Amino acid sequence: MKIIKKISKINATIDGLRLQGKTIGFTPTMGYLHRGHLSLINASKKQNDITVVSIFVNPAQFSKNEDLSKYPKDFERDKELLNKAKVDILFYPSEQEIYSTKSSINFIIDEELVNCMCGKSRPHHFPGVLLICSKLFNIIKPDNVYFGQKDFQQALIIKQMIKDLNFDIKMNIMPIVREKDGLAMSSRNVYLSPSERAFVPILKKSLDFIAEKIKNGEKNVKKLKNDWEKFLELDAKSYIVDYLDIRDKNNLSELKSLNKNSGIVLALAVKIGTTRLIDNIVL
Ligand code: AMP
Repeated sequence: MKIIKKISKINATIDGLRLQGKTIGFTPTMGYLHRGHLSLINASKKQNDITVVSIFVNPAQFSKNEDLSKYPKDFERDKELLNKAKVDILFYPSEQEIYSTKSSINFIIDEELVNCMCGKSRPHHFPGVLLICSKLFNIIKPDNVYFGQKDFQQALIIKQMIKDLNFDIKMNIMPIVREKDGLAMSSRNVYLSPSERAFVPILKKSLDFIAEKIKNGEKNVKKLKNDWEKFLELDAKSYIVDYLDIRDKNNLSELKSLNKNSGIVLALAVKIGTTRLIDNIVL
């Protein structure tokens, strides 16, 4: 695996590969890799000649009171995992390399897509995500990009940006990889104390509980949300629910009642101690 830190170097390497007619798959990450990241990489390996992974903890998508400085890092371990996964190129730029000049461009995202779920409590987040993704897409020039359904709203907004800005890139959204007890894998799970870790499988159980009710014919969204809140309250300890949402999976609009044609995403964000966890299922 080649490790490249400079934009000029990766540009030259990618240009060379393109001249040879190679297809390029790209997975952006913030490091501290787990099996979720590896599933994206494996999909890229299957569908492209060359697989590029980036590790970059993007300051633009964190607000001042978030966990940027303590975001978990273990570069040696990440390198080993990427080598084992037979990744061709790791792009590992410094902050100075990516933001050599203060960016004077900001993304404004359609309210319907951004003014809900994670975008509501983290208004700075998605403009920062689009800034780094557009930079990385222009630097790597991939044919395919791989993102996780775990960050459902993020994947939808990036997909829309690719379309709106005519990036010649195919978006691939891959299923959520989970621990045995159902917890969605996340770099942030490492923050959980043992008692918090024992408690958090309730989140996926609550999604399954609501999905089951919908499958059994419940159509009333207000009632479903009440049942969902009650289910979580049964075990309530020290957590704060940010949102429990039942939305249209295509445009995130709020669903008032369900019919058999509704494409539904059930999504939640919950703060356990200092750790914010998200999860979802698509029906
Ligand atoms: P991150 O390093 O957290 O920014 O994540 C990088 C990519 O991995 C994003 O596209 C995430 O959606 C994806 N990802 C994170 N966790 C999972 C998971 N448990 N299953 C599948 N993809 C994931």
